[in-house]
Amino acid sequence: MTSTSSDLPAALQEAITRRHVHDGTAHAIVSTELKIIHCSADFGRFLPENTAQIEGSLLTSLFAEFIGSEPYLRALLHNPDEHYAIKRVNRTAPDDSVHYLDLELTGFDPQRPELGWLFTIRDTTEVGRLEQSLIQERNQLRLARRELALVNRELSRLDQLKTIFLSMAAHDIRAPLTVIRGYVEILTSMAEINPVDIDFDEFAAFLNTIRVQTDWLDNIINNILGLDQIENDQLVLHIVPCDLNSIIMDMCDMMQATAKLNQRTLTCSPADHPVIIPGDHQRLQQILQNVIGNGIKYNQTGGKVHISLSTSPEFAILTVTDNGVGIAQDQLPHIFELYYRTESAQKSQVRGTGLGLFIVKTLVEAHKGTIEVKSTIKSGTTFTICLPLLLKK
Ligand code: ADP
Repeated sequence: MTSTSSDLPAALQEAITRRHVHDGTAHAIVSTELKIIHCSADFGRFLPENTAQIEGSLLTSLFAEFIGSEPYLRALLHNPDEHYAIKRVNRTAPDDSVHYLDLELTGFDPQRPELGWLFTIRDTTEVGRLEQSLIQERNQLRLARRELALVNRELSRLDQLKTIFLSMAAHDIRAPLTVIRGYVEILTSMAEINPVDIDFDEFAAFLNTIRVQTDWLDNIINNILGLDQIENDQLVLHIVPCDLNSIIMDMCDMMQATAKLNQRTLTCSPADHPVIIPGDHQRLQQILQNVIGNGIKYNQTGGKVHISLSTSPEFAILTVTDNGVGIAQDQLPHIFELYYRTESAQKSQVRGTGLGLFIVKTLVEAHKGTIEVKSTIKSGTTFTICLPLLLKK
């Protein structure tokens, strides 16, 4: 049996009015055919503005959320303890604000299932918005926690690397020190035992070795101090006009001893004119010492290292080329990373801390320059450094 608004029992009408007045929710009576046959006065405010007719419409046409749930709804008609609720249904108002509604259907009277359901709409916008913002905050917290975990993992990775680095650096420092001490002892005993018979060539060669090892030590310490300054944001450059041409010629001379000791040939093609750049003289030497030092280190007996300097209208272009062991293509993108050493370098006898190129790149960039590398395994490597020229105004 289907009831209509006009023959609705007075008790139902009254219930609707009473509920509406007392708790601010809106109500409707829904027939067993799922049609709305009567609704409270403010029911319409929960529907889109253009809803033509409420009474007589199918509940599912106004609230598509109920499509498919008819079997559950029918069961309610005989069960006074059950209800069917859909919570936080969202509706967008004409001003684009989102509203939340709780929808609920209850069998009106289990003794008279033919009367249909009582349908209740409750505006839960405030609670819904609060829940949404809580969900958002919880998600943001989760994201922040995940990011924190990543940062934490990275920090402990760096911490581990630092520990490895410290032991390598200690080992690196001890090696030249041992050589220096050994040669100083030989020189001292030579001088003490028979000063007259000293072979000056031999004496000079020993002194040369001491100088090379001292330079090496100096480079390691400069890199460690440089890293400390970079990490503490205390890298300060003393920029003055510098002639890069004379710096590379001086460095080439300075590093001849290292090259010779390692049985490498170090050559230089300077520009035929001064190449003035705004730079920090000592830092530019540090850049060169690292890159040339690597060309000598990662090379074999008889290997060659060549430095050249040229200019473009705005840049000084410095290249350091060696015909050494080269770097595998998949490892090339990593060589400027802090503490990075290629697999073959780690397995080889060549000492290193993975600090040099990180510092070189940082220093080049602090001079507003760029550094690039090209390499072929077993053929050699070329580093190209571009530094802005001091342009006349
Ligand atoms: P290291 O103290 O290990 O020499 P660097 O930061 O100077 O550290 O270099 C990083 C890594 O890049 C080296 O361990 C080495 O594997 C590789 N590398 C750098 N320069 C060269 C080069 N000229 N030839 C081959 N490999 C090089």
